[in-house]
Amino acid sequence: MPELPEVETTLRGIEPHILNKTVSSIIVRQTSLRWPVPTELLKDKLINKTFSAIKRRGKYLLLQASEEFLIIHLGMSGSLRIAREEKLKKHDHIDIIFEDELILRYCDPRRFGCFLWTDNPDSHFLLKNLGPEPLGNSFNGKYLFDLSRKRKAPIKNFIMNSKNIVGVGNIYANEALFKAKIRPTRQAGRVSLQKFETLSEEIVSILRKSIDQGGTTLRDFVGSDNKPGYFKQQLEVYGRQGKECKICSSILKNITIGQRSSVFCPKCQK
Ligand SMILES: [Zn+2]
Repeated sequence: MPELPEVETTLRGIEPHILNKTVSSIIVRQTSLRWPVPTELLKDKLINKTFSAIKRRGKYLLLQASEEFLIIHLGMSGSLRIAREEKLKKHDHIDIIFEDELILRYCDPRRFGCFLWTDNPDSHFLLKNLGPEPLGNSFNGKYLFDLSRKRKAPIKNFIMNSKNIVGVGNIYANEALFKAKIRPTRQAGRVSLQKFETLSEEIVSILRKSIDQGGTTLRDFVGSDNKPGYFKQQLEVYGRQGKECKICSSILKNITIGQRSSVFCPKCQK
């Protein structure tokens, strides 16, 4: 599933190719994504217009045209790439074609993504309840600590809840909790300020590392038949259940929390 770093990499990959270019046409081959694609509205709003900025909010891309926005989410399996007149692949559902014939092409085999339009992202139903950006200025350990008091949810669920903080997917939650030495089942309200400070630093660190790694795939956004190269993380615990902890050599355990696999070291993580 594309996570925050992949979405940020997508933004950086497509931005230089489409910014301030006039849209000449839009082709929607499949309108049935997570929500129906408003094809006529998109044509009405975008043809002969330009995108003046591309922003990211959590895992949503916001492509600004005049004072309004195209909201794109990649869902479970979506990807955007810059294409030319090349052969379509299965699941290439949407093309936004520019004056220079470059195409912003959306592919989504499982069709859980979305293409929607809004004149006010802050009040849009998908965006209005999102917590702060982990890479933004308002996020730190004190914020998480204050928010978590009296919360009984496991810390892992707490940091994966996009109302509390956006962009901490399952892999990142597993890894950050290991680095911060916090057991994923611990009640959020019982984690100390000091631990939250370490945890917030680890969340920022792992997201930044992944974005840096993604930088090496930017060329894959153009002229390639492949989907953009979502990158492999260097993982300490995720997917390593039954193997030795890289710090203490204990055997890593796997439990399910909120239906998600949670791997931890029973000795290092308290
Ligand atoms: Zn260990």
